[in-house]
Amino acid sequence: MSRSPATLAPEASPGTFRPHLVQTSAHTWVCVGEDVSNIGMIKGKDGIVIIDTGMFPECAARALAAFRSVAPAADYPIRAVIYTHGHGDHTGGSPIFCAESPRPEIWAKANFGAEASSFEHAGLMPLFRDRDAGQGGFLLPPEKRIGNGIAPARISAFGSAVYEDETCAVPPDHFFNTVSTLLSIAGLELWLLSTPGETADALSVWFPEEKVLFCGDVLCRSFPDIYPVRGAGNRDIPSWCSSLKLIAALNSEALIPGHTDPFLGMEQTHEVLCRYREAMEYVHDRTIAGMNEGKTPDQLVEEVRLPEHLARLEYLGEYRGNVAWTVRSIFNQYVGWFDGNPLHLYSDFTNVEEARRMIDLAGGQDALLKSARTALERNDAAWAARLADHLLAVDPDKADYLLLKADALEVLGENMRTATGRNFTLTAAQKLREKVLKRGK
Ligand SMILES: [Zn+2]
Repeated sequence: MSRSPATLAPEASPGTFRPHLVQTSAHTWVCVGEDVSNIGMIKGKDGIVIIDTGMFPECAARALAAFRSVAPAADYPIRAVIYTHGHGDHTGGSPIFCAESPRPEIWAKANFGAEASSFEHAGLMPLFRDRDAGQGGFLLPPEKRIGNGIAPARISAFGSAVYEDETCAVPPDHFFNTVSTLLSIAGLELWLLSTPGETADALSVWFPEEKVLFCGDVLCRSFPDIYPVRGAGNRDIPSWCSSLKLIAALNSEALIPGHTDPFLGMEQTHEVLCRYREAMEYVHDRTIAGMNEGKTPDQLVEEVRLPEHLARLEYLGEYRGNVAWTVRSIFNQYVGWFDGNPLHLYSDFTNVEEARRMIDLAGGQDALLKSARTALERNDAAWAARLADHLLAVDPDKADYLLLKADALEVLGENMRTATGRNFTLTAAQKLREKVLKRGK
């Protein structure tokens, strides 16, 4: 499978896909690219503190070995593990760090795991697992898994089909539910700051003595993941921007994200935090302005783009988050599903009925199939997929239609820059091919 320039770009992003240890100040380090999330470490007088644990114990073990080269176990036991939020890629490696005796304190915000709980309470875990596997590319063969945009694709001892809730994270045993709290441990004074954004349970760790900030997934080297294709409740941009403003005011010398390489130097960290917030506010405000002009989500995704001075910044590339999906998400957050077109208040035309009439207009199924194949030959894959949908609406099991849609999705996925969308699209293509194979047996 050839890789397009679009998918090679995030793969080549410096530092993201290569395991390496970065010293970010006299007493702080971060292990990047070893696991799905970064694993941070602060060395105190008589112990170390770990910030996030990665997803897989075998990766966490390699990160710990790297930390031990600068903080030997005999002198620096692990005193605390801090989870920046509840996602499995930040917590699943915890058994490696919690195995020592005495067990370290495990810190998190009081609403730890809020996002996953909402799916669980609604009984939506089957859908969540399916879509999460799709966006993570868990079901794709290794040669097609080129990462998730901000981290390498890792395949654990469990195999590739790992879901967040199947990791064996050690649950937190110390919580805070205020705006901030001071944690004195291992001879260190650390501030835990509530910084909701990607998730409501997000916290940042501020080490004022060396002006180092571990910000979890509040920021990384990608346009923010405001709408994940697996689905999520509202990721509120105004709250997220407030968190960015709060941490920008700290004037940190090192900014360590939950994924991708750190930013070093006060000027750079301040610039990055301000530009990141500017990008989010721009998309939010332009969407709201367009909504007030009566525009639909379809119209808005054609219009709202990052301005040039933001779009060219490497850390705002759409590797993981996507501007168009964000626009739709903002629309939905404020006014829900109704796009303002009164036709959508009626259920007279189901997909099947509309497809029948489109096929009639085109001169029958064979004529439409021919048009779709021609579109694909001309590299108009999105149109080919759209036509294939009409054919599949009336004959969902026909191999020719299933394979046509699979071929079109394959082209779309290979050219999608946002890795989660790429993974989801290629997985959907694979499922269509599997359906044909099963039926052929
Ligand atoms: Zn993350």
